[in-house]
Parts: sequence; C-alpha cells; structure tokens
Amino acid sequence: MAQGAAITNGGDGAARDKRASFEHALVTLADASPSEILRWAADRYAPRLAFATGFGPEGLVIFDLIARHRLAVDVFTLDTGLLFPETYALWRRLEEKYGRGIRGVNPALDLEEQASRHGEKLWETAPDRCCGIRKVDPLAQALSGHEAWISAIRADQTKDRAQASVVETDPRYGIVKVNPLLAWSSDEVWSYLRDNDVPTNPLHQLGYPSIGCWPCTSPVSPGEDPRAGRWRGRAKTECGLHSRPSRPVSHSSVRPEGA
Ligand code: SF4
Repeated sequence: MAQGAAITNGGDGAARDKRASFEHALVTLADASPSEILRWAADRYAPRLAFATGFGPEGLVIFDLIARHRLAVDVFTLDTGLLFPETYALWRRLEEKYGRGIRGVNPALDLEEQASRHGEKLWETAPDRCCGIRKVDPLAQALSGHEAWISAIRADQTKDRAQASVVETDPRYGIVKVNPLLAWSSDEVWSYLRDNDVPTNPLHQLGYPSIGCWPCTSPVSPGEDPRAGRWRGRAKTECGLHSRPSRPVSHSSVRPEGA
C-alpha cells in the first residue's frame, strides 16, 4: 500500500503543495463531520477503500452515509457463521433498502473444520484463537489490495479506542485506518439512525447494545457498560480487529495524493 511508498525528499513544488494540503487535511479532519471525513477518504483512496461493518449502530450510520453519497467503497462484513439470525436478516434488509450489496467475508475454516482441528466450542476454550480464525485473519485477507479502511469505532467505547485518531496508520495491515465516528456519542448515533430511518438490529431493544457472535454476546442490565455483554466473564474486550497499535498518521508514513 501507500504506507510503503513514503514521501520522497526533495520533490518539486507541486509535490510540496500536495504534501502541505494533505497535512492540512489531517489537522482539519480532527474536527470534521463524519460525512466530510468519509468524502475525504473516498476522494483520496477509493476504490481501494474498504469498510468492514458488523451491523452495529455506528456501522449503520457509516453505511447510510456511504450509500447516501454513493461513495466507491468496498463494503463487507465478516461472516463468522455465528451471527444471530436477526443480524443475518438485517444484512438482507439493508441490501434491499439501499440497493447495494454487502460482501460477506468467510473464514478459511468452516465451523466443522474448526471443531475438528481445534476442538468443539473454540470460543469457550480459546476465544482469542477463535476470533483470529473467524475475524482477524479474514479481515487481513479482505483488506489486502486496499489502501485504507474505515472503521466505526467511537472513542468512548473502550480505553483502547480512546487512543485512536481520526486518521491513523494501521501497521497490522499496512494501510491507513479512518475512524469517522470517533468523536460521536452513542446518543448522536441513535439520533442519526432515527432521523434517517435506518434499519437496525431488533436485538438492541432486547438488551443487547453491542452485538457480535451469538456464543459471545449476552444482554446487559440497566446501568452496565454497553459492551459488558461481549465475552462476559472474561478479560477479553476486543476481537482483535481494533486493538492498538494503530498510530497517528504522518506525512512520513503515508503517500500524499499524487506523490
Ligand atoms: Fe469466536 Fe466469539 Fe470471536 Fe465470534 S466473537 S469469532 S464466536 S470468539
């Protein structure tokens, strides 16, 4: 990706202007709206720009914006084979409503193969390995060939996510990561969904604020952390897709447009 194509020193005036413009964009994007951030990312990286959605409320905001602005983004979901039936139904409903496909990305091993090689219910015995097989490795595969990917994380979701920047490098995949909703609150997300009539997962109304694979997701009680139902009873809080070490992007790590 572009990451490997660092800026060369001593370019001409036009290249310098582009570098300055790029750095100016990074500064101003910190206070930009999600729409502005997405448009910037699409202008710069599409069609080698991906969005991985798990159909959570934040992801639905981004999907709606991508569809609304007709951005050339490769939208996909990691189909672990363990999603709730309600999530699969929402996937189909979104495709129908927006007339736009959402690519399903499957793990290399189906559930039977995983059980036979690693044991039954790997999510109970070794959830990190299970997430590695069913989410992290497929994401790496899906992102190959892309220059940047969009995530739907918000800063106040976890301590890890609070360290993220709107635009950062993601050394795990060797590409840029763009986080348009970083500054938004949960209330802002839900207001957007209501105001724009975006379909959502009905499980949210049944006590599931954060929804992943069914074996690792439980409802939360009033007052509990919204992500308390994910891997309940375990220290695990992330599937590994958004774990650090992403780092703020700089002109020395990313090729400016046209350079
Ligand atoms: Fe496996 Fe649970 Fe991770 Fe899904 S969330 S991939 S079931 S460990």
